[in-house]
Amino acid sequence: MIFLKTQEEIELLRESNRLVGKTLGEISKHILPGVSTLELDEIAEDFIRSEGGIPGFLGQGGFPNTLCISINDEVVHGIPSSRCLKEGDIVSVDCGVVKNGFYGDSAYTFAVGEISEEVKKLLQVTRHCLALGIGQAVAGKRVGDIGHAIQSHAEANGFSVVKELVGHGVGRSLHEEPQIPNYGREGQGCKLKTGMVIAIEPIINLGERGVSRKTDGWTMATRDQLPAAHFEHTVAVGKGEADILSTFEFIEDNLLN
Ligand code: MG
Ligand code: MG
Repeated sequence: MIFLKTQEEIELLRESNRLVGKTLGEISKHILPGVSTLELDEIAEDFIRSEGGIPGFLGQGGFPNTLCISINDEVVHGIPSSRCLKEGDIVSVDCGVVKNGFYGDSAYTFAVGEISEEVKKLLQVTRHCLALGIGQAVAGKRVGDIGHAIQSHAEANGFSVVKELVGHGVGRSLHEEPQIPNYGREGQGCKLKTGMVIAIEPIINLGERGVSRKTDGWTMATRDQLPAAHFEHTVAVGKGEADILSTFEFIEDNLLN
């Protein structure tokens, strides 16, 4: 069942997603060689609680932490640990919060210091895939239009789309219907309506699309061990264009300074 949101509910979702954006902004200040992913997780948990939110991933299906932090060939769902970031890594940080009973969900992949040109391109293309997907989140379009826009751009650049992991509706639950795959055909799938709130989250691999779960039971990693990138926004489907509820502005303010 798809829960359509009222404008009041969308404003509450905006507040939750803004807190996610601020948290990612805090984290961006600490993305440096030598920091452990568990330190980043603690910074995020303290910040979310200080702003009156609750970590949204903590306890979801038994997930033990606040952030999903996935390095290089890790695709998503990495568990924070004593592992430290190194110069040249890329790191996907996925953050969720609950506030006023509504979830926020957004992810950003950071470069740690200087990264290779090839991996820079992977980040740029994945980021652009997100923008193209959001461009299709308009009433009257279909879920397949979003997936098609993402898949076409990723594949035109020689990258591949992970099919096992998908975007989703967001509301009083972190994962609601419908699923939003990062692949698809134009004009196919569930019709988008005003009041739908969805997380669009392209997950793009530099190499082959295959992924597998690591022995920790959570972390998904590429089979060919090449890097993957992940960017995510939560958006409300709009009439003329989507209303983007999460934000990268706090990350960008920090990275440009
Ligand atoms: Mg997420
Ligand atoms: Mg999500």
